[in-house]
Amino acid sequence: MTEAKKSTAKMLRCPTCGERVTVKSEDFPFCSDRCRKIDLGKWSMGVYRISSPVMDPDLLEGLEGNERE
Ligand SMILES: [Zn+2]
Repeated sequence: MTEAKKSTAKMLRCPTCGERVTVKSEDFPFCSDRCRKIDLGKWSMGVYRISSPVMDPDLLEGLEGNERE
């Protein structure tokens, strides 16, 4: 029982696939280089999707111009 607690303290789950990863792993906190790249891809896509509609100046200008005319 106590041994299980010790091992979980040094193990985390890969954010991509949920596989257990040791802190000593080269790709920590991911289980592999592949999972790290997948997670990075998710983040970059998420940031792009969230910021694009709000930060796009052309879109805002187009909407304002239409309303004023
Ligand atoms: Zn993984």
